[in-house]
Amino acid sequence: MEPDARRGHVLLTSQDSEIGDRPTRRKILQYGASAFFGANLALSPPRSPQAAASVRGLHTLTVGQAKVTIISDGKFNFPQAFVLPDRKPAEIDALFSKVGSEKPSFDAEVNVVLIRMADRLVLVDTGGGTEFLPTLGRFPDLLQSAGIASEDITDVVFTHAHPDHFWGVIDPFDGMSRFPNARLHMTAGERDYWLKPGLERSVPPDLAGVTLGTQRRLSTLKDQVEELPLGQEIVPGLLSVATPGHTPGHISLHLTSQGENLFLGGDVLIHPIVSFAEPAWRWGADVDWPDAARSRARILDMLASDQILLLGYHLPWPGLGRVERHDSAYRWIPV
Ligand SMILES: [Zn+2]
Repeated sequence: MEPDARRGHVLLTSQDSEIGDRPTRRKILQYGASAFFGANLALSPPRSPQAAASVRGLHTLTVGQAKVTIISDGKFNFPQAFVLPDRKPAEIDALFSKVGSEKPSFDAEVNVVLIRMADRLVLVDTGGGTEFLPTLGRFPDLLQSAGIASEDITDVVFTHAHPDHFWGVIDPFDGMSRFPNARLHMTAGERDYWLKPGLERSVPPDLAGVTLGTQRRLSTLKDQVEELPLGQEIVPGLLSVATPGHTPGHISLHLTSQGENLFLGGDVLIHPIVSFAEPAWRWGADVDWPDAARSRARILDMLASDQILLLGYHLPWPGLGRVERHDSAYRWIPV
């Protein structure tokens, strides 16, 4: 990866480290605790068993004085009919072939981010844990491999409370936070949406199980969750940016240090082709799709205009790239 001061960010170190598979408590738990996965027909493991078994890594970069570590929690696959319910298969095939892809693919990485800045160690989202999908839940072992104890994390910021971002906060051994010394930050809009009684009856039936699962976990932690203000710094240099739609209280984060920038998009831009080439298309995982499309349009315009480096939670590993205007929309350029 080349240093590029012109774009306002310099990647001083960049390294992928491969971590071998070991018997861990994650594995002990993984196969006995997939009740929600069984009930949840909307998401499925990656189609390729090799991808599910592949060794994942750690990726580091610096943004000014902040050290950023991207940690894979695993990957999964979005069923095409779930995420693009309004589009005919031929229309989707045409979009993918236009950008040179042989056939549509909806694999999603899960890129958890750790930011070390000043005396803070800030985690952005926590992966899916061991109770959501059997292909997720690697992040805690990789964190340990990186020499970081979960007790050292000072802050956990949730972009939103979907299971692949939120359930990893729970330690399945005691049902409490895996990060005992960390302040947990979530917007009031997000917390209140998930804690609304009867929410599971207002979502598609396939999502009722995961909705109840999030409600249960959030209820356990709610006294520890601090209200995250919008448009303000959570720690110096890390600004919350309202990007509602994927969920009602969804946020992104803008990290700035010494004039260098990194935008952590959460799920505002999910798919490396669809989210950029057809940002107005309804994405089935978005709770409020007109709001989600507005947030996508605003963030794409900002990232392309200001050439800010984007880190996407579900974009191809390690999720780093920039946004270019292309035809009447945009395209994703991995870096
Ligand atoms: Zn997600």
